[in-house]
Amino acid sequence: MALFQKLPENFNPQDYDMLVVGAGYAGSVVARRMAEEAGWRVAIFESRPHIAGNAYDEKDEAGILVHVYGPHIYHTTKANVNDFLSRFTEWTDYQHRVLGEVHGTLMPVPFNHASMKLAFGDERGEALYQKLIERFGENVKVPLMDLCATDDADFEEIADYVYENIFLYYTQKQWGKTPDEIDPSITARVPVFIGDDDRYFPGATFQGMPAQGYTKLFEKLLDYELIDVFLNTDARKILRVEGDQVIADGKPYEGTVIYTGPLDELFGCDLGELPYRSLDMQFETLPMERFQPVGTVNYPTSEDFTRITEFKNMTGQVKEGVTTIMREYPMPYVRGEGMTPYYAILEPENQALYQKYAERVGQVANFYPCGRLAEYRYYDMDAVVDSALQLAEELLEKTSAK
Ligand SMILES: Cc1cc2nc3c(=O)[nH]c(=O)nc-3n(C[C@H](O)[C@H](O)[C@H](O)COP(=O)(O)OP(=O)(O)OC[C@H]3O[C@@H](n4cnc5c(N)ncnc54)[C@H](O)[C@@H]3O)c2cc1C
Repeated sequence: MALFQKLPENFNPQDYDMLVVGAGYAGSVVARRMAEEAGWRVAIFESRPHIAGNAYDEKDEAGILVHVYGPHIYHTTKANVNDFLSRFTEWTDYQHRVLGEVHGTLMPVPFNHASMKLAFGDERGEALYQKLIERFGENVKVPLMDLCATDDADFEEIADYVYENIFLYYTQKQWGKTPDEIDPSITARVPVFIGDDDRYFPGATFQGMPAQGYTKLFEKLLDYELIDVFLNTDARKILRVEGDQVIADGKPYEGTVIYTGPLDELFGCDLGELPYRSLDMQFETLPMERFQPVGTVNYPTSEDFTRITEFKNMTGQVKEGVTTIMREYPMPYVRGEGMTPYYAILEPENQALYQKYAERVGQVANFYPCGRLAEYRYYDMDAVVDSALQLAEELLEKTSAK
């Protein structure tokens, strides 16, 4: 890979078989596959001063490896994704665990056997737990909706407790909503776990952290001779869509374009802005070995922030006498204020607006939107890698059919 800090004066898009907007997972995975399998020359434009998109990590002033855009835990059941990423990193055996700070008591989230006893006391909690096993079996997730559908006062009490103390205020903070505005179908799906497993992703067949961090993983992923990465480069200065054509540097571009940025921004938001939630991430370095017992502690009943992450607890980094934590304060995303658009707000009217932008680019045969921003949806890392691998397969098939 050649890594440029800016776009050179003599840059010519026509020198490349593919132009990629964004050096996160979506763009980087398609770039690597097409360079490696089809021998394509690829240029990646990245508006930030670094690769790795929202998975970017770096050492802070205290030397602690932190996830700059929020804690990222790798977990998947997809063997193809795991095989692909494992070419570029080794993994630690980190298993993610979350505790909720509920009125001063730390209890496992999702709500499980131990949480039940912490919430209702040892004796009653155990009795309720045994009753749950009798009704639903063990080692299963039961949504609140199913607890309420039993018409049993004990099960309804458990559902009410979880709704009030684990779900409600956390969700209000996260999405900036009043209780009435929260979609009941989301509440209905909140689970109680009947079992002792306190891992956050018990179903993941592969879970861990890249041993040297995500940025190192990306350095290897992009380390291929046919790939050039241009940092600090907003692609909109070079690329635009006009009718059914991509125009690059003033001329029609016939190569392939992978776009992983926000679709509305490509058109100057002329049909309206796609709304997002953002996060204010407040990092703090403390002169202590350990701040909290697990990687993430949620605050579902108090505080303005949703959760605290302690990075050493996730990365396994050993650094004596110092640790860095991060509090996440959700907030509305305002364009042009230096904020990051983190979570698409998947209301029907926003999705309808997205479809209008998608229809425009749908007319452009060589233009492919891919990833969380360009598809206006939430993707876990493994899901976006899977989707990018599928897109590369599609492109490879088209290439071999020519
Ligand atoms: C707070 C938070 C925590 C998360 N935690 C997890 C987790 O624990 N586990 C998990 O699996 N997933 C997690 N995710 C999801 C994960 O971040 C995404 O799956 C991943 O970032 C998607 O990759 P992407 O390439 O689609 O987008 P991004 O990583 O956002 O990459 C897109 C890139 O495009 C660039 N770009 C945009 N517009 C332009 C432009 N005009 N010109 C040039 N460049 C441009 C952006 O700067 C960015 O670098 C989390 C997400 C958030 C918000």
